[in-house]
Amino acid sequence: MQHKIYFTPGPSQIFYTVEDHLKSALNEDVMCISHRSANFQAIFAHARAELSKLLNLPEGYDIYFTSSANEVWERIIQNLVEKQSHHFVNGSFSKKFHQFALDYQKSSTATKVEDGGDFKDLSVPDEAELISVTLNETSIGYTFPIEKIKELRAQNPDKLIALDAVSAFPAIPFDLNLVDTAYFSVQKCFGLPAGLGVWIVNQKCHATATNLEAKGHITGSYHSLAQLKAQGDKYQTPETPNILGIYLLGKVAEDMNRRTARQIQNDTSYKAALLYQAISESNSLEPFVESKECRSKTVVVAKVNDGNEAILKSMTEKGWIVGKGYGSYKGDHIRIANFPVHSKEQIEQMADFLTKQ
Ligand SMILES: *Cc1c(COP(=O)(O)O)cnc(C)c1O
Repeated sequence: MQHKIYFTPGPSQIFYTVEDHLKSALNEDVMCISHRSANFQAIFAHARAELSKLLNLPEGYDIYFTSSANEVWERIIQNLVEKQSHHFVNGSFSKKFHQFALDYQKSSTATKVEDGGDFKDLSVPDEAELISVTLNETSIGYTFPIEKIKELRAQNPDKLIALDAVSAFPAIPFDLNLVDTAYFSVQKCFGLPAGLGVWIVNQKCHATATNLEAKGHITGSYHSLAQLKAQGDKYQTPETPNILGIYLLGKVAEDMNRRTARQIQNDTSYKAALLYQAISESNSLEPFVESKECRSKTVVVAKVNDGNEAILKSMTEKGWIVGKGYGSYKGDHIRIANFPVHSKEQIEQMADFLTKQ
């Protein structure tokens, strides 16, 4: 049988070194050891160190492990928002985070734009304590321009800024100093099995959570920021965590560091340019996001005239599994993941194919 390549935007193709790391994990009894053992502490410390290097983690920022990015949304609302957060919503994921805040009965507000449109108004209500920005809206292939995040930072020095970096890190360069907290899950650009989230926070986040607790707010139980910190300071986790996931993340981050983040980011730009060029040359496809600076480099989304059924069928015949449109765009869009695992050769072949459509 022909081997498939998953160009789906998460879960996606598994990073090519994962098979070897899985074997080592079995040999090293990673799935059997206690999460209170020194072996586990070493796995935790290794994952943290490699991620810190890969993401160029600034001084004073900490890394914790959760089960998903969805979990981090909830933890942010519990630990960092007393009454109101403000959300820049352009697509399904950013919308869901806003909805979580409303579910928690916060008076959270949102700036919404048409899907695929650009944020013109960056104003944030005075009362908002935290601003949510989604670097890469996986649902529609929209990138929040980093220049605008700089503007938000400059205009709101006293508010927390939270960055959803799920389908962006480590393929998109980003200076974490611009935000107070950021998070991602590993089944997108890291090419790992789902079931692990990474939550990055700075000291201002710790202070905010401590303050909320002092006021009597419930900040969560086992995964309150205070609990994550108390255990994380010892390279441990409150619960029995996804040890295999943390192990694989450390190993893959190490592999990526060997290739260097810079190289991965440059390759991502090159491959994205090929894909968008091919889409604009094709007769039946066009990029969904109009503004060039807002087009995602890691999740390339095209509108397909006459629907996506035929093109998805011919891609499947080639062994290429490509994403359908998200939500209401299910039948009209194709979404092509351009993650670090996808080689230049694979993307060149994909671009060749797209040009002829
Ligand atoms: C996939 C995704 C999420 C959700 O990740 P989970 O691991 O399913 O919680 C959140 N935000 C963005 C931008 C995503 O692409």
